[in-house]
Amino acid sequence: MQSTDQELILELARAHGFARAGLAAVPPDGNAPRAASLEAWLARGLQGPLDYLLQNAATRAHPRERFPWARSVLCLGAHYDGGAKGVAGLDLSAHVARYARGRDYHAVFEKRLKALARALVDAGLAGQAHWYVDTGPVLERAWAEAAGLGWIGKNTCLIHPKHGSYMLLAELLLDVEVPAAEAHADHCGTCTRCLDACPTNAFAAPGVLDAGRCIVTWNLEQKGDVPEARWTEHHGWAAGCDLCQSVCPYNAPERLPAPDAELAAPLPWEELTLAEAITLAREAYDEAFRGSALRRTGWKGLRLGAITAAGNVRAEATRASLEACLDDADEAIRARAAWALKEMERAASRP
Ligand code: SF4
Ligand code: SF4
Repeated sequence: MQSTDQELILELARAHGFARAGLAAVPPDGNAPRAASLEAWLARGLQGPLDYLLQNAATRAHPRERFPWARSVLCLGAHYDGGAKGVAGLDLSAHVARYARGRDYHAVFEKRLKALARALVDAGLAGQAHWYVDTGPVLERAWAEAAGLGWIGKNTCLIHPKHGSYMLLAELLLDVEVPAAEAHADHCGTCTRCLDACPTNAFAAPGVLDAGRCIVTWNLEQKGDVPEARWTEHHGWAAGCDLCQSVCPYNAPERLPAPDAELAAPLPWEELTLAEAITLAREAYDEAFRGSALRRTGWKGLRLGAITAAGNVRAEATRASLEACLDDADEAIRARAAWALKEMERAASRP
């Protein structure tokens, strides 16, 4: 493929709302970059309770297993709002990771990807295209690194040297041949801020996450269904955790790029207090969280997360809500609220 055609593909990608775009060549053996690291990671059981990662490992490592025509991966990214929000102990937004605060990117990206795939085919720039937005087995950060969008840091995130890591990714497999892109050097150097900041020691080694220890696994992926021994480890997070990103010097506030306007559009739930989230009624949840990335936790998961956060930060402002939960119809809510109240008593009784 001529370099002008590559440029046209990237221009079309940007015109369809992806601030970051790059092309990675699928190598002649068809192996995805970092496929061997994934196998080694799974062999150590570091996926924790995320057993779905054991499925489709072969397709993830070899995209041509499913799409024999795949010759390149168009890697796409858009920035979410990396600003700090809310007051800890009072506002729910202060206890939600940045990537989970905005609009559900799956729905936003899906529209853009479908339109982009059509535009590429209509323009004769590709014959076949298949899109992914967290919808199938694809090593998205590894492909994005191979496409020159950044390097994978010690915190396992894709980091752009100018734009940081507050970025959501998607991919289009294409049937067009492209040369290998120029990779970014690893700019982590001797820094270890992310490893030092992790409250659960979730890094088995620099760049190697033990998912069973990561807060995100429990409060987002497992929808708040957390073993009791872990309740004290949630460091005030109701949904997600991004400490290992917020401490990264490449995400310093003065470096943050403008967020994608559609992803960052305000949502009604941002007005909720932590206390309100704890006792939130089902109907109010459906109303406040429509279109939000936080729907991933589900109604009960969000309440469990908010209760756990309140217990962790001893949020006195939530006391009445926690007490109300002691009569909740759901046993898990009752148990978590009783624990949170005990945590508050314990903190109050300390000299
Ligand atoms: S997201 Fe939080 S718990 Fe998970 S590795 Fe990063 S700092 Fe640790
Ligand atoms: S905090 Fe430091 S070590 Fe961690 S990803 Fe950022 S630059 Fe790399």
